[in-house]
Amino acid sequence: MSDQKQNFSADVARLLDIVAHALYTNHDVFLRELISNAADACDRLRYDAIAKPELISDNANFRIHIYKDSDARTLTITDNGVGMSKAELADHLGTIAKSGTAKLMEKMSKAKDNADQLKLIGQFGVGFYASYMVADTVTVISRKAGGKAVWAWESDGRSGFTVRKPTKDEEAKLDGERGTAITLHIKDEGADFLLDEKIKQTVQQYSDHIDVKIFLSTPQETEEGEGQPINSASAIWTRPKNEITKEQYTEFYKHLTAGFDEPLVTSHWKAEGVIQFTALLFIPTLRPWDLYDPSRKHSVRLYVRRVFITDDLAELMYPWLRFVRGVIDSEDLPLNISRETLQYNPILNKIRSSVAKRVLSDLDKLARDDAPGFLAFWGQFGAALKEGLYDAPEHREAIFKVCRFLSTHGDGEKFVSLDEYVERMSDDQDEIYYISGEDAQVLKNSPQLEGFKAREREVLFFTDTIDDFWLQNVHDYKGKTFKSITKGDIDLGDDEDSQDEEKKDEANNSPLISAIGDVLKDEVDSVRFSKRLTDSPVCLVAPESGVDMHMERVLKIHQNYAGETKPILEINKNHALIKTLESLSANDDAFKDAAWLLLDQARIIQGQPVKDLGAFTRRMSAFLEKSLK
Ligand code: ADP
Ligand code: MG
Repeated sequence: MSDQKQNFSADVARLLDIVAHALYTNHDVFLRELISNAADACDRLRYDAIAKPELISDNANFRIHIYKDSDARTLTITDNGVGMSKAELADHLGTIAKSGTAKLMEKMSKAKDNADQLKLIGQFGVGFYASYMVADTVTVISRKAGGKAVWAWESDGRSGFTVRKPTKDEEAKLDGERGTAITLHIKDEGADFLLDEKIKQTVQQYSDHIDVKIFLSTPQETEEGEGQPINSASAIWTRPKNEITKEQYTEFYKHLTAGFDEPLVTSHWKAEGVIQFTALLFIPTLRPWDLYDPSRKHSVRLYVRRVFITDDLAELMYPWLRFVRGVIDSEDLPLNISRETLQYNPILNKIRSSVAKRVLSDLDKLARDDAPGFLAFWGQFGAALKEGLYDAPEHREAIFKVCRFLSTHGDGEKFVSLDEYVERMSDDQDEIYYISGEDAQVLKNSPQLEGFKAREREVLFFTDTIDDFWLQNVHDYKGKTFKSITKGDIDLGDDEDSQDEEKKDEANNSPLISAIGDVLKDEVDSVRFSKRLTDSPVCLVAPESGVDMHMERVLKIHQNYAGETKPILEINKNHALIKTLESLSANDDAFKDAAWLLLDQARIIQGQPVKDLGAFTRRMSAFLEKSLK
């Protein structure tokens, strides 16, 4: 028999437990969630009806009704949207299918305390289950559009749910031939919501922009001509900008994102050239938890002439703009086209490119008008944006314009733009120097930087993993080559050796160089005197033809790169230690041990492992012993 009680899936049971116990502050959101589901259901049927108009032949006006029964202490929300079949009632309301909520549960299990859980719930939204913040029993009556059977789903939100045949009275709650009626039996905590004023105010606060009319009455009363909608029921993006308040934009943003942050940038415009569309896009303040999850998609909804089409069309936005939220409403795309074939429509590429241009120019404007706001953006989303440097060469220049990097300029704590860097370059410098690594604070102490600091040559710190990827494809900015200071030879301009090739060769033929080279020949490509060291005795650099050291490490982690570039050991001939070494005999054990220790020291400061820890400690102890005697 169908009346049998079914259990919630384990994650729903846990979620319900959390909703009942942790969420006691903001009850209002349950109404927002139910209205948002009702509006989604209308959107979906509106779309289905393009291909099958008979689905809405009984009533083409989509609408939502909210009404109370004070005696029974119930609140009912109806919609004449797509409805749910018996199986869908059990699936959609008894299990968590949505990846977002599933991920929420996973995070919840790791949350430290209640406050932490609350924060997470704020980030994800609990959807339908928010009903149990104010209700002790919820009954959902539904008929799938085009279907015959009506089913009732019922649960106290604790011990599981039942799907059964509805009573005649229950069936009468539906608005016409289709859709859903959700009746909440209100508990004491939710008594406010049995007041019309409270409902009205909550709807206006959270759901004014929903483009389905919401009535504060029963569907029958509306039929008799009573009731005005309590929301403005027009798609917010179709309204003139100057009639929309900041609060309304923010509420719409929250509706789209179930987010707890405020938009950092709100951008609302109409493209009226060859292609026509309206866009209302937001850049969030905070990074969503799954920004770097490879399965994450962008979150922009596509409408065609006010009809919701999909929020799942990968081709609508570039992946490097996947943090942008909002709505794009096209005038040109055909309505009667399946979601599957939409992706091949050339209009889509034009929209994507035009939107990207706009977002990048908005960011550039933000950088000029609100520097702290821009830096907040950069901290959250800069690394994602930089993926565009290799992904979309046609937007590269505009992306570079808003890229910021830490550098050795000033106190080394400020983010600088490439234009600022280029502006500061001296006349004889034609390359943009950088060093890449995980952490700017560590990079600051790199021995390879010494010569640059001494000569006041600015060096950029590239500290995002993505930097090592775009650097493989992008070689210059405005004709200035990017040059790693840990790779190849460096010409700092004022070195007399570099002006005299013969002298340089002579220097690198010195007995000291070849003696150290002999000792370390299996580990290093070569040994040479350094032009970049001033204080440290040694450092490692990658050969000109090889892969830069940090890049090699990144490639090994992310792309199964198997190559092994032997580094060059550079030594500082002005360093006291190196001078002492010069006076030792190359056959001396102390000389050999010193050569090995210098190599290991260079590896350590580079963040690389010491290969033979046993030998390293033995040599170290021998030296300590001698010097402490
Ligand atoms: P979400 O809306 O984020 O998917 P919810 O918990 O709010 O998550 O709803 C779960 C699912 O239940 C929805 O995805 C939808 O399939 C179904 N659903 C909820 N309310 C309705 C409704 N009024 N009409 C049709 N389907 C609904
Ligand atoms: Mg929902």
